[in-house]
Amino acid sequence: MPIWNPECETMPRADLAELQLQRLRQVVARLAARVPFYQQKLAQAHVTPDDLRSLDDLRRLPFTYKSDLRDNYPFGLFTVPMEQVARLHASSGTTGKPTVGGYTRADLDLWAEVMARTLTSAGVTGRDVVHNAYGYGLFTGGLGVHLGAEKVGATVVPISGGLTRRQVMLLEDFGATVLTCTPSYALAIAEVAQEMGVDLHKQMKLRAGIFGAEPWTERMRAQIEARWGLQAYDIYGLTEIIGPGVAMECEHRQGLHIYEDHFLAEIIDPDSGEPLPYGEEGELVFTTLTKEAMPLLRYRTRDRTRLHAEPCACGRTLLRMDKVLGRTDDMLIVRGVNVFPQLVERTLLSIEDIEPHYQIVVDRSSDSLDTLEVWVEASAHLFQPVNSAELQRLEQHVADELAQALGLTVTVRLMGPRAVPRSEGKAKRVVDKREL
Ligand SMILES: [Zn+2]
Repeated sequence: MPIWNPECETMPRADLAELQLQRLRQVVARLAARVPFYQQKLAQAHVTPDDLRSLDDLRRLPFTYKSDLRDNYPFGLFTVPMEQVARLHASSGTTGKPTVGGYTRADLDLWAEVMARTLTSAGVTGRDVVHNAYGYGLFTGGLGVHLGAEKVGATVVPISGGLTRRQVMLLEDFGATVLTCTPSYALAIAEVAQEMGVDLHKQMKLRAGIFGAEPWTERMRAQIEARWGLQAYDIYGLTEIIGPGVAMECEHRQGLHIYEDHFLAEIIDPDSGEPLPYGEEGELVFTTLTKEAMPLLRYRTRDRTRLHAEPCACGRTLLRMDKVLGRTDDMLIVRGVNVFPQLVERTLLSIEDIEPHYQIVVDRSSDSLDTLEVWVEASAHLFQPVNSAELQRLEQHVADELAQALGLTVTVRLMGPRAVPRSEGKAKRVVDKREL
């Protein structure tokens, strides 16, 4: 499989470390000179760019939290005046104001470069037709993939999300070879195609899919690959750092290579803030090394994963991160027990006759006890005609498996086909009705 930028992606680790240190000093100097928030933080930490003598000194730098972005909303962390900002993006926040990302011309070029790397990782070339069903707009998914697909010279179909029957028609008519969207939307399109009588294996030319913007399990990957007959790749990114294009799987799919010449990664203990060695699970933290408009120091992503430094068979020397298992703030606390939505997904998809469409509903009963319900669809054949005995047995079986996995009593509601809402972007897996 080709590599888009061999010089950067296969750089000897010692050279990479030197480049990272040099860039780290530059970005700290830039922030110290231009952003009051960081001026204050760096002064409190008693660090100047000259104090950074090795990458180990990274730990002397202050963390940046999502709340810092909120406090400096919308443009307080920008290092350049508005006339130098070429583009704004934003991700919807769960509470009030969105998280803003600003890009200079050079930042957009950087974004195109790292996205070209991700697409090349999945074997995309100028001969491909990329059906880009990530949402276009303030969300970084659509325009991020678009930039990279143009850079590698592919034919881009900027269809965005929605109008799913039309997606199916155009996938076939335009001969798409690559599909890009959220994993949940990939499943939703496959389902509509099936209803339309389209045979995805025979009538489509798709060979690769690049799926991200929401956490998904290996079992979900297996489902998507079986339905579409394509190779599914995981891509990782976040608006705060650049959007998609921070890390991507290679053909070996043993973790996602991080583009470390631009994004310096650490894993820390989320409680103590101490850096953890490779191989240990903790919170992923990024420092942007080359971004102009809104560089961030040690940004706490709240994503839980591990880093691996062993060489990869693809030849890239870049660190790999495990598929993100969940966000620390995705974790639900139900009756004092920690519940990770990904564990629910993994458990559900290991059960026969259960479909990959589910929702986790948390509520509080009249006697103030938390309740946890899992709504999940059962295979259509159990409803044609309705097989009550089998559905009852399956419901109990799912409840038992979830109780075993979570250590918590769960009420399971088996639903008929299409009863769980489909998403055209990021799936809403958790509905928490408790008052805060
Ligand atoms: Zn690799």
